[in-house]
Amino acid sequence: MMISRRDFLKYCTATAAALGLGAGQLQQLEAALAEDGAPTLIWLHGSGCQGDSVSFLNLFANLAPVGDVTLADVLISHVNLAYHTVVMSSAGETAVTMARQAQRKGGYVLVLEGAVPTAFGGRACMIWSENDQPMTYQQAIHELAEGAAAIVCVGTCACYGGIPASGPDPVEGNPTQAISCPDAIKADFPSKTTINIPGCPSHPAWVAWAVVQLILGNSPELDPYGRPVALFGNKDADPHAGNIHENCPRNVNLGGGNSHATTFGQDGKCLEQLGCRGPSTFSDCPSRRWNNGETGPANWCVDCNGMCIGCVEPDFPGGDFYA
Ligand code: SF4
Ligand code: SF4
Repeated sequence: MMISRRDFLKYCTATAAALGLGAGQLQQLEAALAEDGAPTLIWLHGSGCQGDSVSFLNLFANLAPVGDVTLADVLISHVNLAYHTVVMSSAGETAVTMARQAQRKGGYVLVLEGAVPTAFGGRACMIWSENDQPMTYQQAIHELAEGAAAIVCVGTCACYGGIPASGPDPVEGNPTQAISCPDAIKADFPSKTTINIPGCPSHPAWVAWAVVQLILGNSPELDPYGRPVALFGNKDADPHAGNIHENCPRNVNLGGGNSHATTFGQDGKCLEQLGCRGPSTFSDCPSRRWNNGETGPANWCVDCNGMCIGCVEPDFPGGDFYA
């Protein structure tokens, strides 16, 4: 994949409305990215599938390449991605050294993807080896959270535990005793807060939105679950705004759809009787859509008859996807 800083700005310009950026803020963004002081990101992967990273990289999938600069170049040179298992060009202790250098410098953004196993001393998830000593994800979070200027949890596993922490039985269903990153951080640093961008995976534009806000020096308003209100509403304060069901084109009570589906694959019908979790889920999926909805072909779960499984909610997946 080829991408440049210009691609990132081009994406932000093309999706300025969706990212909540006015002309002035786009200029600020360009200036910030041109500075040597652009933010440093340390992106760690814990218990998860790395789907959020793949989702984020798809952000640029249908943008025409500009020049011959690679994605790694733009991230390392302009967003300054000090550590990321999937795209970093270095490996082994060289890569760890870059993370440590960023840690010593301070002021970095710590991005966490994946839940935190706590059983077996955290050894169910080793993220790197340093001086021949393995480092657990749990310990790395402990060491890197303190000096972070901001912490962004990406994906529901990181935000709330997600699939690694799921299951009806708290022990047998979660043998590694996985917990969310905010819970792991609060145990060590009670005053630290996180920006939570859930989803299974998180929408790449949501992650881009959070990165852009941090580059601009903004502190996004968060709901009680750590989610940006601009993307997910605030269901405790307003149970209507941001509710998927109330913004769904198949809502028969709002004049949409043509009755309820009785089985999967019935186009245009409301999926509530099949277990759709849209009524209890809050995000902008119906309007934002997925697969580069702002710049190219797009769809979302309900429109492909897949129904909403509530992947952005703290109780996802719960005991049963279809209950
Ligand atoms: S398909 Fe789901 S989100 Fe859409 S109207 Fe039916 S229950 Fe609500
Ligand atoms: S529609 Fe529901 S299941 Fe689909 S991505 Fe959005 S929140 Fe997740």
